[in-house]
Amino acid sequence: METFPIFMKIRDCPCVVVGGGDVASRKVSLLLKAGGDVTVIAPMLYASLVELLKAGNIKYLNTVFEPSQLDEACVVIAATDDEDVNRQVSEAARARNIPVNVVDAPELCTFIVPSIVDRSPILVAVSSGGAAPVLARMLRARIETMIPSSYGRLAALAADFRDQVKRRFSNSQQRRIFWEDVFQGPIGEQVLSGREPAARLALQQVLKDSGDAHHGEVYLVGGGPGDPDLLTFRALRLMQQADVCVYDKLVSKEVMELVRRDADLIYVGKARDQHTLPQEKINDLLVRLAQEGKRVLRLKGGDPFIFGRGGEEIETLMEHGVPFQVVPGITAANGVSSYAGIPLTHRDYAQSCLFTTGHLKDGSVDLDWPALVRSGQTVVIYMGLIGLPEICRQLVAHGAPADRPIAIVQQGTTQRQRVIAGTLATLAEKVQVAALKAPCLIIVGEVVSLREKLAWFEPSPGAGSAE
Ligand code: SAH
Repeated sequence: METFPIFMKIRDCPCVVVGGGDVASRKVSLLLKAGGDVTVIAPMLYASLVELLKAGNIKYLNTVFEPSQLDEACVVIAATDDEDVNRQVSEAARARNIPVNVVDAPELCTFIVPSIVDRSPILVAVSSGGAAPVLARMLRARIETMIPSSYGRLAALAADFRDQVKRRFSNSQQRRIFWEDVFQGPIGEQVLSGREPAARLALQQVLKDSGDAHHGEVYLVGGGPGDPDLLTFRALRLMQQADVCVYDKLVSKEVMELVRRDADLIYVGKARDQHTLPQEKINDLLVRLAQEGKRVLRLKGGDPFIFGRGGEEIETLMEHGVPFQVVPGITAANGVSSYAGIPLTHRDYAQSCLFTTGHLKDGSVDLDWPALVRSGQTVVIYMGLIGLPEICRQLVAHGAPADRPIAIVQQGTTQRQRVIAGTLATLAEKVQVAALKAPCLIIVGEVVSLREKLAWFEPSPGAGSAE
């Protein structure tokens, strides 16, 4: 270890920054964030420093650097573009035993300013000891994605309840188990998803009752259209902490691979020649699993609230008092259109966009056709593969021009994506020949023709086999 990692308290302590430019300004902001009493020494000030000076947030010495200016300082940063000045600052600080950092000159530093992830009061600092700051910054970016933005609130909650918990559990191991349960269970989730008052109440209750924080919860999570990179940070986090995952066919296998390895997997989709588990049975299953104290991941393709029956599932949970949260996903319309190079709205072609389902009932599709044939809009049809010929026929019968562009996209956003474009008159036949596999999304409207120019995603053949 080349350096000794510490977090330094500088609140109300005199901090000196030599230099008035852009880099100096960034260091000043950081020192101010930590409550430092900052003096800037420079012959000229960068605009953002002028603002800080005007607002009374910093002191300013409009002079050239002199060693005696450091006499009172508790920490010094040099950020000038003059190597001689930087060296003088470093020497003067070291002569006074004051920690000094010189930007981009590790040999002149007695301390390094790490890359940080700020979830105050939680702070994560990453340093390469000055060897490779870019690498440290990249690592920081990765950590940034792993720690939810509201993580600091968890620590704040813990701080508020610390004494109470200490009184309740005298033994430190009991306290550790208690806090682990709180942070990883529904109370922690409530804080992270912005339901802090409820979390505080629940924590009070848990402390009052048995001290047992084991209650189940359901995470209704949108798994997006297929490409696992399109998951949200929250979806991924919950997927990795679930005890059991209830999923159906629409969730891509690449997404399923990210579910915690030792979670039990329960498939509720359609097996070959069989029916899907009826919705009421799924609702009951979720309630039962949560009541057993499990963290239940209800993972759905796309977004749970778009043709996903997510509303029905949480209605049942609500009735049974089971805590839950809903995590939106990228719905097929969004993901698939992006990857197919078809913008759903466009100033010249479509001012609105309509999502509908093309599910066949008794061989026909029952839709509000007059609304669907209007020009100047895009229509996205979910579940329309089987009904495609009927949909094209009805649109034309209700007045849409036969040459209106339409596309159908198979397994969009995945390596198995296929796009077939045509017109209302031609597409059905092309699709019959192409033998597409579900899921498929239909997009109707002038915007479809933009694909010729804008298609950018090319699945690599062989990278994923069709199912
Ligand atoms: N809740 C889902 C939709 C469920 S309905 C969502 O928000 O996306 C199922 C329909 O979604 C399928 O019939 C198909 O029309 C569409 N769909 C979902 N994923 C798709 C994909 N990767 N490619 C094409 N269509 C998709």
